[in-house]
Amino acid sequence: MRDFSYLRATSVEEAISAAAMPATMLLAGGTTLLDLAKCGVAEPERVVDISHLEGLDAIHVDAKGATIGALARMSRVASDEAIKAHFPAVSEALWQAASAQIRNMATIGGNLLQRTRCAYFRDPVTFPNCNKRNPGSGCAAVTGVNRNHSVLGGNSACIATYPGDLAVALTALDAVVHLGDRQVPIDDFFLLPGSTPDKEHAMRPGEIITAISIPASPVARHSTFLKVRDRQSYEFAAASAAVGMDLAADGRTIRDIRVAIGGVATKPWRLRAVEDALRGKALEPDTVKQASRLAIEGAVDHGANHYKIELAPRVVERAILKLGAAA
Ligand code: FAD
Ligand code: SF4
Repeated sequence: MRDFSYLRATSVEEAISAAAMPATMLLAGGTTLLDLAKCGVAEPERVVDISHLEGLDAIHVDAKGATIGALARMSRVASDEAIKAHFPAVSEALWQAASAQIRNMATIGGNLLQRTRCAYFRDPVTFPNCNKRNPGSGCAAVTGVNRNHSVLGGNSACIATYPGDLAVALTALDAVVHLGDRQVPIDDFFLLPGSTPDKEHAMRPGEIITAISIPASPVARHSTFLKVRDRQSYEFAAASAAVGMDLAADGRTIRDIRVAIGGVATKPWRLRAVEDALRGKALEPDTVKQASRLAIEGAVDHGANHYKIELAPRVVERAILKLGAAA
């Protein structure tokens, strides 16, 4: 691990100006950054500690929606009564992420910016070929061990899966990322790899995440997050789905629906085709099954990850039917 200098920021302004310096990284909960520094993927010259900054950890919920400070801890947001009542998919996604110890340390801002779990990316000594870590060096995963890699959004430059759970729920619920005064819809915040897989999000140099906001809506209030993984706890998603649904008074007609999936794409993946196919329709198992197949439109597998093409629509279908049954 490379030596770095450590600065404990005393204000948001100081953190922003320090973050603009070259080779500088912010430290929030540290549960991702320190792992990446230890394995040689992150090599900051300066680390700016923002973990204690006042005013960035507030959770505020009112009739318009929720605003969650970037430094709010995962566990606090997950157990917040107003978040549970008005944005259940957010609480459920957080509860199913990582472990209790990590959730107690990790922050919302750091969670959004976690990096892929691609084993080639995390082992620079053994695997030099990784376009995300070392642009132009190639992608070891395309022809390598890729069981956990994406089937949507990738290309020959990079097929790494975005691993987080929270961002999937936030994508379904049209959240907005606050970068100080600039606000970016979450679907635009995460970038496709294209020819620059090292560039993962829309932040500009020197910007920091200050908060996320989620608009209140009937779909947000009646939402859920379903995660399927190799083991029931402490594991990243093989496939996940966040669904918000507003049913008409008859309890059957889908007035509005939002769906996003995780674990199968290079970024949190909004499923507008599935939404369009279900809006205005009756909540019937066959209709939901047909619509859920649209989840993997355009999917490309790389052999070992073929199962995700089968799994993703089933997870979407199950999440929608589970939510419908709970109405
Ligand atoms: P840090 O490590 O402090 O920071 C992460 C990155 O974000 C760094 O680059 C840092 O510079 C940057 N950063 C932090 N805050 C800001 C900010 N406000 N503005 C700009 N940049 C910022 N996650 C899941 O979703 N699901 C899982 O199942 C899951 N399982 C896990 C299992 C293990 C064993 C581990 C180690 C992690 C797991 N995680 C999982 C990831 C975990 O949720 C993240 O490590 C955590 O949320 C990161 O938050 P942090 O505050 O510790 O970030
Ligand atoms: Fe690197 Fe992406 Fe290829 Fe993994 S999938 S080796 S992160 S370029």
